[in-house]
Amino acid sequence: MSSEAPAGQTGDGTIETDALIIGAGPVGLFAVFELGLVDVKAHVVDILGRAGGQCSELYPDKPIYDIPGLPTVTGQELTDRLMEQIHPFGATFHFGERVDELERLEDGRFRLVTDAGTSFIAKVVVIAAGGGSFTPKRPPLAGIEAFEGKSVHYAVRRMDDFRDKDVLVVGGGDSALDWTLNLQPIAKSLTLMHRRDEFRGAPHSVEKMRALAGEGKIRLIIGQASALHGTGDALEAVTVKTKEGEERLPIGVMLPFFGLTMKLGPVANWGINLNENLIPVDTEKFETSEPRIFAIGDINTYPGKLKLILSGFHEAALMAQQAHKYVFPGKKLLFQYTTSSSNLQKKLGVN
Ligand code: FAD
Repeated sequence: MSSEAPAGQTGDGTIETDALIIGAGPVGLFAVFELGLVDVKAHVVDILGRAGGQCSELYPDKPIYDIPGLPTVTGQELTDRLMEQIHPFGATFHFGERVDELERLEDGRFRLVTDAGTSFIAKVVVIAAGGGSFTPKRPPLAGIEAFEGKSVHYAVRRMDDFRDKDVLVVGGGDSALDWTLNLQPIAKSLTLMHRRDEFRGAPHSVEKMRALAGEGKIRLIIGQASALHGTGDALEAVTVKTKEGEERLPIGVMLPFFGLTMKLGPVANWGINLNENLIPVDTEKFETSEPRIFAIGDINTYPGKLKLILSGFHEAALMAQQAHKYVFPGKKLLFQYTTSSSNLQKKLGVN
């Protein structure tokens, strides 16, 4: 039997890549494009469950008016257009994972490890981490930390972990509604709790959720959790307060969706010079104090920096020129236009 690892992976499952992009916000996405034009292959990691960073997380339906060539485009539309634009370059996305560790190897490459244990070896690193890690807001419940990771989850990584469990989903936005609808068919029981009888999620999700409640397939409670009960990290019950009084519900897993805050997070531990939680870069290559590590988009700082999407796009283009030199040492890079270069058009799949 062959013991060879799949292409791009070492024997221990480590993924080898030219570039690892940290952050799938608009700037991280466009970095895939610019790197792709110069043949640098990329993997992209993001804590969130989908692409778009601030655009899709904070203002998906708001129009943006200052993207060149697109007089008006919403945060979600821009994300969708970028995903379409970078499709030809076949980047691999790792959603729902946070890059926690970054160390330089003796040969100049980097080992990076996520909180889910995915490990990468990359020739260059592109930090496009925006305002930092989106971190879930923790409900103010005594002792909740003890249950986190086992019985209390702020994101769903594998739906099957919730099969045949008594699930409590808490919140009134899209995440709470989406997971109520998705987990209801596989959970033993599903309770959705929100403090008001008004939901901020998409109207069709609210409608579907209310229909399930009407059919008795889920329980809808208007109230708030006041205490958690269990042994070790295993949750057994949740006390909830409603207008009618207090009730102790048998619950095995709780999924609170109370929104996200942004924190710098692990970037601060990687030995890169920081200035007020931002990464200083040069404006020729957008490289950090550490050679081969670049920082583009909202996370970087330099004289005159504007935290605009279009600035991040420009930074990605210049970063890619230098990344090419590291990935293909000694290989000359010709400046070419996408309009007239058949070579670039081939890479884009349009020729
Ligand atoms: P982000 O969009 O912040 O994306 C960074 C990503 O990195 C996030 O998804 C995060 O989860 C991920 N990440 C961070 N750390 C890690 C880690 N350790 N591991 C894995 N993933 C990580 N700009 C404009 O140009 N025009 C506008 O009209 C405009 N309107 C705005 C309106 C609002 C309400 C807001 C909040 C911002 C607006 N902006 C606008 C700013 C714009 O959204 C940002 O400039 C842009 O999102 C920056 O993109 P980015 O890719 O650098 O970072």
